[in-house]
Amino acid sequence: NDILCLRPTWLDIDLQAIQTNAKLIMKHAGAQRLIAVVKANAYGHGAKQVVGALLEVGVYDFAVATIGEGVQLRKYYPQAKINIFLLGVQDVAQTEVMVENRLSPAVGTVEWLNEAVNYIKDGQRLDVQLAVDTGMGRMGAHSASAVEDMYHLIQSTKKFRLAGVFTHFATADDNNQNYYDEQVQRFYQWVQSAGIPKQYWHLANSGSAIWHHDEIYTDTIRVGSVLYGYNPGAPEKKMPLPLKPALQLKSKLGSVHQLKTGESVSYGATYTAKKPQWIATLPIGYADGYLRRMSGMKVLVDGHIEHVIGRVTMDQIVITLKQKYPVGKTVTLVGFEGENQISVEEVAEYAQTIPHEILTNFGARLPRIY
Ligand code: PLP
Repeated sequence: NDILCLRPTWLDIDLQAIQTNAKLIMKHAGAQRLIAVVKANAYGHGAKQVVGALLEVGVYDFAVATIGEGVQLRKYYPQAKINIFLLGVQDVAQTEVMVENRLSPAVGTVEWLNEAVNYIKDGQRLDVQLAVDTGMGRMGAHSASAVEDMYHLIQSTKKFRLAGVFTHFATADDNNQNYYDEQVQRFYQWVQSAGIPKQYWHLANSGSAIWHHDEIYTDTIRVGSVLYGYNPGAPEKKMPLPLKPALQLKSKLGSVHQLKTGESVSYGATYTAKKPQWIATLPIGYADGYLRRMSGMKVLVDGHIEHVIGRVTMDQIVITLKQKYPVGKTVTLVGFEGENQISVEEVAEYAQTIPHEILTNFGARLPRIY
């Protein structure tokens, strides 16, 4: 990986911003405990470093998506007091790996538990997170009796321990709150009737922790995007907290030259100079997560706005320059330069997607500088 990173394009990651954002969201939501969602390499920011930074501010609970991510995290941080929660549906045949690495899977059915128990030796234990499907339609108990059946099974054997009970919101960052309220109502009805104490509950994702913290108060929140400084409801919802974006994407001018009137650039020759035009290449392309749809997007050079012209290629893009600049000059594709800023939210909107997808697409060829 270090060898792949020998290139003048990089992600600048501000770990202090992540620490500050974690404190801000906990205070705002009145939470005592934070489960930091660090799946997909901490939304592209680097799971090892992000977890290390959060440990420094007293966060000991982390959520990832896959067993592989969990095992990797446990290798980085073998300490017992760190809890690792697996969010997705896991292959029950991997139960021994989860027990060995002290990973707590989300569990959605009694059948899964009944099968898992066969893989757990006497004296061993699997900590589980009881999943309740109140409206995401991905995994979890669908009724009060299904929640109760799982809860009773977990309590009936020493091979399981309940680590939490949770649901995931589909519309926490929407302006219309009806669907969200229905999910909350189902969770309360089903989980309360099963008699699971509130200390185990965690419901809030970023949208919920930001905009609904008074309505569904629980001690624990389970958030990702807000930690990294992004507004999950952008552009419709305004961010009430002074979050700091943790990531900047930078590159350096490669080849700098002047197009003559009528000359074109990149595949398909879709951009043609109407007058003599200084341009430069940057060593980044769609293979690095700078999506093909980003053609025409803004970048910052010397504090002012320039644009990506022609098609984004696999490893290079071409940008306009208002004047000749030296090879090696730093360019900002995401982040701050002078008075100007290009936010991940803005990039996502331009690419008709959400910040999460932009962040998790930044590839292994981009060194992360902390
Ligand atoms: N909880 C679950 C189950 C998730 O799948 C995710 C992210 O996809 C999160 C929490 C964190 O969501 P966000 O990044 O919006 O806080």
